[in-house]
Amino acid sequence: MLTIYPSLGKCIYCQNDRVDLTDEHIIPLSLQGLLVFDDASCVPCARLTNKFESKVIQSLEHFRVRYNVNTRNPADRKKKTFLFWSKQADGTKKRVTIPHSELPATAMLYKFGRANILQGWPADTPIFEWLPVPYSDGIALKAAMEKYGWDGSLQFKTIPNEFAQMLAKIGHSYAIAELSKVLGVRTFDSFVPLCADIILGNAKNYSYVVGGSLELKKEADSTSDHFIGLGFIQQPGRPKLLVVSVRLFQQMGTPHHHIVVGRVETDVQVRLVKEYFSDSATVQQSFHGI
Ligand SMILES: [Zn+2]
Repeated sequence: MLTIYPSLGKCIYCQNDRVDLTDEHIIPLSLQGLLVFDDASCVPCARLTNKFESKVIQSLEHFRVRYNVNTRNPADRKKKTFLFWSKQADGTKKRVTIPHSELPATAMLYKFGRANILQGWPADTPIFEWLPVPYSDGIALKAAMEKYGWDGSLQFKTIPNEFAQMLAKIGHSYAIAELSKVLGVRTFDSFVPLCADIILGNAKNYSYVVGGSLELKKEADSTSDHFIGLGFIQQPGRPKLLVVSVRLFQQMGTPHHHIVVGRVETDVQVRLVKEYFSDSATVQQSFHGI
């Protein structure tokens, strides 16, 4: 079921209010996202977010096809086959075509180290700790290898930067959507955003605010496809931070990520954020790796 957050009348990325606005899926629809922010992005910002999101979505295509995750062209998908070049015992390569129903649902996700801001490091620290985490349905893989004489090799291009940008977008849009339930348009006065430049391509220091846990936990945190929660971190002598915790496709035992969405600096901002947390019945408490 969809959760709809009403529009705040301006773009949540560039804050322009004199433009046409489009609906924003907080987690992309193509990744089974069910949170929709009505009229939340202007067209130029949507063009920028679509760019990295479509790269991530494309990189998860085998997985999406196999599990029949949302698509705009369901009829095309039914007919879909995938082509591989398979190495034979004599060293030559053979063309192998595998129908979508027999694909081994491979996907590449990423583990990130803790966000640099949470380590107390400055914004320009050139450290981005990431590791690829490949997923594959082992039984389907073995069956397809035997049936089609396929060597089982798959090629992946790793795209941690685009993945981090997508997480920044998910975190930023979710924080604003959630806060707006209590604060309305005052949401824009409640924190200093830290992700907007990364989302709009004006900064590339992804690991400053996007991070996660390098440890993998098998069990899911809840029964839904994705876990997402908003938290407020206050530590003596450290900046007060709004953090979104995200775990995409948690049932597969996927990595935990966190996005430091903003700094809460002034007394007014602290009061607004506390107003949300004292009112909110949806405070989540799962912050692995923070
Ligand atoms: Zn915009």
